[in-house]
Amino acid sequence: MNEAVTVADVTQVYVTEQQATLAIQQMNFVIRRGEFVSLIGPSGCGKTTMLSIIAGLIAPTVGTVKVAGELVSGPSPRVGYMLQQDYLFPWRTILDNASIGLELQGSLTGEKKQAVLHLLDEMGLLRFKDYYPSQLSGGMRQRVALVRTLATDPEILLLDEPFSALDYRTKLQLEDLVIDTLRAKQKTALLVTHDISEAIAMSDRIFVLAPNPGRIHKEFVIPEEIRAPLPFEAREKPGFHTLFRDIWQEFGGDADE
Ligand code: ADP
Ligand code: MG
Repeated sequence: MNEAVTVADVTQVYVTEQQATLAIQQMNFVIRRGEFVSLIGPSGCGKTTMLSIIAGLIAPTVGTVKVAGELVSGPSPRVGYMLQQDYLFPWRTILDNASIGLELQGSLTGEKKQAVLHLLDEMGLLRFKDYYPSQLSGGMRQRVALVRTLATDPEILLLDEPFSALDYRTKLQLEDLVIDTLRAKQKTALLVTHDISEAIAMSDRIFVLAPNPGRIHKEFVIPEEIRAPLPFEAREKPGFHTLFRDIWQEFGGDADE
């Protein structure tokens, strides 16, 4: 099974008392196992909605989503979700925050706890394991959130603007760390971002979405020479800026954010 995520004819309509919103119209795409794909596009084009559908948090109005060949019918440990806010519990230590997914699954064995400690070590957080979230910087907290997401060993990671609240330097460092980690663990990932450079530097493919109704406007395949190095390095490669301009054009050059 080479298809990690299969989105087939997905349409999402939100109905409120005031109006019905066509958040996503007829989306179709496949993410292959081990691929890193980004969704970019202006606010309101259905990016978060798409992730919520893949995560099984909302059922699409029309269409189906499969994860590793199985129909999504609700949240599953196969899918990990990481958001812009870290949602760490302030009263739990870093280790206890990182372990919470396993704890909720009832699978926090001694062995799994060792694995969490190992992940914290990989993220340079081991010596902070007994700290509380308020004692850590934003970048460190997001690294804890990444450990928490990886701890349950999901096959697919959904990343909804996980770097957008960070300062530029921290963001660049975290991009490299995330790519390095996901490659080593051969994870599949779907990233939502407003940042074109970030999408180019991190992805194998990019879908540019358009709003009203939310839909796939264009697909870009990132060339090997940009894809191979880590994101920081990728920004220096020839072709990066041309690609940036091409994608920028697809926003009409007047993206609202
Ligand atoms: P994005 O993440 O690209 O900014 P969203 O998926 O959050 O877009 O939203 C897509 C559209 O659906 C927007 O018009 C938004 O206002 C609407 N929408 C999102 N969530 C809801 C909801 N729970 N109820 C009603 N409308 C919603
Ligand atoms: Mg969103």
